[in-house]
Amino acid sequence: MFTSPLLNNLIEFLPKVRGKYQKDEPMSKHTWFAVGGPAEILYHPADQEDLKYFLQNLPNNIPIYLLGGGSNLLVRDGGILGVVIKLDNKNFKQIEVGDGWIKCGAGLPNIDLKKILLKHELGGLEFLCSIPGVIGGSIKTNAGCFGSEIKDVMLCAEVMNGLGEISTLTPKDFNLSYRNSLFPDDWIILSMTLKTYHEPKAKIQQKLEEQKNYRIANQPYNEKTAGSTFKNPQGLKAWELIQKSGCAELQIGGAKVSEKHNNFLINTGNATAEDIEQLGEEIIARVKEHTSITLEWEIRRLGIRK
Ligand SMILES: Cc1cc2nc3c(=O)[nH]c(=O)nc-3n(C[C@H](O)[C@H](O)[C@H](O)COP(=O)(O)OP(=O)(O)OC[C@H]3O[C@@H](n4cnc5c(N)ncnc54)[C@H](O)[C@@H]3O)c2cc1C
Repeated sequence: MFTSPLLNNLIEFLPKVRGKYQKDEPMSKHTWFAVGGPAEILYHPADQEDLKYFLQNLPNNIPIYLLGGGSNLLVRDGGILGVVIKLDNKNFKQIEVGDGWIKCGAGLPNIDLKKILLKHELGGLEFLCSIPGVIGGSIKTNAGCFGSEIKDVMLCAEVMNGLGEISTLTPKDFNLSYRNSLFPDDWIILSMTLKTYHEPKAKIQQKLEEQKNYRIANQPYNEKTAGSTFKNPQGLKAWELIQKSGCAELQIGGAKVSEKHNNFLINTGNATAEDIEQLGEEIIARVKEHTSITLEWEIRRLGIRK
């Protein structure tokens, strides 16, 4: 049970918005790991104006946290205090195609780009279609695979700050680096404009299929996971270090190391967030002992540990 609310009944102190509030919403329903305690409040803004009104009328000191597709998150079992915001209304999933560019709303699932790329014969963004999650999350994590990352293809992005002001920013403003970014905590990404070019449909289709087949062959597919658990240390592979350190068959409670890819952790069905976090910590300790290297979490952990 969720035992430590921020205010007695936070929902009563929140602005009257057009969007939807959900109280004590289990984050296990919103994360790929399918674990995690409740968000005190989950807010689904109706549109940008609604989000602006919310931010401008939010009482001081109420923490907010942006949730994308939940594919890079380990939400702890004690849940999240404050308001979690999810941009999943259709107004945050709009797409606009121009000459050499495509603008996507922050709430658009990356996979939805697929049909647009094929329809308009747009190349260079196939890699993004295979990364779970939504556009906003992909900027925050500088998502990448198959030799490309957001940093290479982003032209600009619209952001709303904590005062509800919107600005258009360049990739430099987000300080994008390997699976990371550095920008003020109160920035909410609203959309991203991506660079693209004409590519015949057949070639796009071929790339998409090759990438999908690669994932099916080399990574856990259709599993409860959050992708690569640890960042690859410079010039090294995290999965190799994990394997060499004797962690390939580790299991704690319902959490285990994937046999297919040792840098993926899997919820086998009944894992708690604690099982997964403890498994990660055990791997870090063993890899450190065997190789003197300290692995760094790529997955973002948040919320209260029970
Ligand atoms: C099977 C699998 C395979 C994966 N493969 C890859 C891969 O090849 N390459 C790769 O890079 N990643 C991979 N991942 C990890 C994950 O998909 C990416 O990190 C993805 O970009 C996360 O996006 P999300 O929308 O799910 O973000 P979330 O996990 O929901 O959140 C990630 C971060 O983004 C922030 N955020 C989300 N939306 C916004 C917004 N609108 N404004 C501001 N901040 C926001 C959140 O607060 C959080 O800090 C994989 C994951 C899985 C499950």
